[in-house]
Amino acid sequence: MPKDTLSLFLKQKNIAEVLKVLHLEQAVSRAKIAALTGVAPSTVSSIVDKLEKEQIVEYIEGSLAPSSIGRPPLLLRYNPTSFYVLGIEINLLGSQVMIVGIDGAVVLKREIIIKARDNPGNVLSHLADMAAQVIAESEIEQNRIIGIGVSFRGLIDRHSGRVQRSTSLPEWENINIVEGFKARFGLPVYAENNANAMVLGETRFGAGCGKKNVLGVIIEEGIGGGIIINGRLYLGMHSAAGELGHMSVASSGPICHCGNRGCLRTLASESAIETNAIRIMKTGVKTLLKSHPETERPAITAQDVVDASSRGDQVSREIILEAAGYLGTALVNLTNLLSPELIIFNYGTLTSYQPFTRRVTELISERSYSKEIGTPETAISLLGLDAVGVGAASVVMDRLLAAN
Ligand SMILES: [Zn+2]
Repeated sequence: MPKDTLSLFLKQKNIAEVLKVLHLEQAVSRAKIAALTGVAPSTVSSIVDKLEKEQIVEYIEGSLAPSSIGRPPLLLRYNPTSFYVLGIEINLLGSQVMIVGIDGAVVLKREIIIKARDNPGNVLSHLADMAAQVIAESEIEQNRIIGIGVSFRGLIDRHSGRVQRSTSLPEWENINIVEGFKARFGLPVYAENNANAMVLGETRFGAGCGKKNVLGVIIEEGIGGGIIINGRLYLGMHSAAGELGHMSVASSGPICHCGNRGCLRTLASESAIETNAIRIMKTGVKTLLKSHPETERPAITAQDVVDASSRGDQVSREIILEAAGYLGTALVNLTNLLSPELIIFNYGTLTSYQPFTRRVTELISERSYSKEIGTPETAISLLGLDAVGVGAASVVMDRLLAAN
């Protein structure tokens, strides 16, 4: 019974410490485990033997610096087929259900399109059906699945799993997004904000591997942010930290859904780009942008603006660079406040458009207070469109394997 074996191991303090280091470091030598846990090397060896016998961990060849002499050290990692987690992303447009290995690899996934007006109860039961289907198709034994992570765009009460606030999906406020999965699958289920999930997934398995202080930025219809400090997700009071989209960057800017003025999402999100493009087109200025027929909404998409800018349209380029200017300003402030090593952008329409991210990166290196000493690197998500789903699975791994 692999899952029960894991639960028994996690109840033993020294073994739990070793399992925690294996999750946080991904690949690590026995000597380093001893150094990081403070557990005696001989005890670490006997724990590792036990874990290897149960096929929970395996050895891999390490690598040596070119000048080093001798055999490369053997590194330990979780056996990728030992345990799995279900990662679920609830999002407008693409919602995903995926099975993720303990090594962060996506084994199998399914996607559905949801709309803002869809009934949340129906969407949740459909996602649960998809989860059951994905488990069956993967042919993974159920007792190797250790939990379910559910991510959502909005503020979530992490204890109850209830959505507290969502400007993009207001119908979901007060809906509990974990109970149904708990009842149906009998597994631990954890809920997390989508940007928090993304930055955690990237830090454990993607562009931020090995980094301790990382910011994650999601730009889509709105803007989300997630913060990793000293290798752990920073949540703040009420788990409400990281609401980058509602950072106030222009005191007399446009009114936001949240009620304030000049929030970053009103100036640098995909919907802000669309609003600006429509406003500028109405002035009659010469541009390659063309609005869609009246039946389609929105009349202009952020993708249209990016495409026109790529074809040399100056108006579109200015709209995009203006948005990059606001995002850059917000990230200069965050860099001054938190001094991250790395800022990771989601793989989105704007964030994968180089002139946009290049401008943001330039602003961070030109204007951060620490520019003489060094400024954070920037990167695009390595997990791509799977980042939030893998992140939701990482939340479960963090809670079960590496809880403080
Ligand atoms: Zn706002």
